[in-house]
Amino acid sequence: MNKVFLLAKPIIHQLKAAGYEAYYVGGAVRDYILKRDIHDVDIATSATPAEVKAIFPKTVDVGIEHGTILVILEGRGYEVTTFRADTNYVDFRRPETVTFIRSLEEDLQRRDFTINAMAMDEEGKIIDPFHGQEAIQNKQIKTVGSPAERFGEDALRLMRAVRFVSQLGFELDATTEQALIKHAPLLQHIAIERIYAEMEKLLTGKYKKLALQLARNTQLFHFWPSIFNKEWILDQVLDMAIQRLNGSELWLLGLYLEADEDPQNQLKKWKLPAKEIKKLIRALSFLKWRVKNNWTTIQLYRAGSEIATMVEKLVCVLHHQEPEANIAKIKKEFADFPILHRSQLVISGNDILQWIKKSPGSWMGDLFDDLEMAILNKEIPNQREMIRKWVETWKNPSKDK
Ligand code: ATP
Ligand code: MG
Repeated sequence: MNKVFLLAKPIIHQLKAAGYEAYYVGGAVRDYILKRDIHDVDIATSATPAEVKAIFPKTVDVGIEHGTILVILEGRGYEVTTFRADTNYVDFRRPETVTFIRSLEEDLQRRDFTINAMAMDEEGKIIDPFHGQEAIQNKQIKTVGSPAERFGEDALRLMRAVRFVSQLGFELDATTEQALIKHAPLLQHIAIERIYAEMEKLLTGKYKKLALQLARNTQLFHFWPSIFNKEWILDQVLDMAIQRLNGSELWLLGLYLEADEDPQNQLKKWKLPAKEIKKLIRALSFLKWRVKNNWTTIQLYRAGSEIATMVEKLVCVLHHQEPEANIAKIKKEFADFPILHRSQLVISGNDILQWIKKSPGSWMGDLFDDLEMAILNKEIPNQREMIRKWVETWKNPSKDK
């Protein structure tokens, strides 16, 4: 058995010793069978949350209303969830209330796809009432029970189906795909934050092209909030070598192709984190510039290594070129820069004031700009004495005007 399962085994063991049932469930079991990396192990149990808390000394109530308790063991947290039946679905969203039950099979039945509805016991025996292993063999994503019903209960599953295609390279089974086409408009009822979380996984999956193609063919993309909700953008993206792009780079590509006057607003519609929006907007302005110009030392320095690399990769993808050589060249230039950021200058504003004996003012910004350029162009080294001499002879060009 995989090491991550062994680490969590004492939890299963203790629950069983206390008279309850307990199993590994969900994504970890799926990924174990697929021989993929397992990131987090989830446990399902017949014990109620209160009963779970009574057994383990260290727990956190992360989602007690849904029956989930985080059990801390040797510094790691494991989600332990009481077997439950989800019934009260309202407005095509996940249920507001859940019912705790004592049957594993019923718990597996509420799960979205057959590949996600398997359990594994302490000894490594797979419990698979909905034939998830067969679906894995056939590389199929198939809902547990009627796809129309399951998409109707919780329309986020429409997105999840497509993101699993992106991560696994599987196909939807025919009835699941038909139901997805029919029920795609239900995605409108789902909070953007939840759609976005699945979209990030979709855009970073190995088979993102397959997934975007599927979203296009099933028309699911119409119900996304912006950018990739346009057929002409999807068609262009699908025509490029996007496999090598990461999530940020794909957002940037979509943003560039959309060429909207207010790109920030387009990203806000997807509720991207503010930090990511800021990075993408900066990258977009460099990309627009780079499409028409070649890099100069100063532009590379201003962009910084992360954005410059990202932009260069996109320029190559847009032009159907291999990016490796161009990126290697940029990396080499950065490695050769005396400084990568103003904060790496060995002197401070106070040093300047002591040396020039002038009251602080906007001239200092001009001086720092010139100094940065002189060092970047290797006219002087980033060294105190040399900078002092340079500062003493510095003439403010904007004052001369
Ligand atoms: P990942 O590897 O990306 O975490 P995962 O399969 O573990 O994938 P999670 O979102 O972590 O996905 O959910 C854990 C499990 O909970 C799933 O495997 C599935 O059994 C169940 N599940 C999650 N979301 C839903 C949903 N919307 N409807 C039904 N079951 C769900
Ligand atoms: Mg998971």
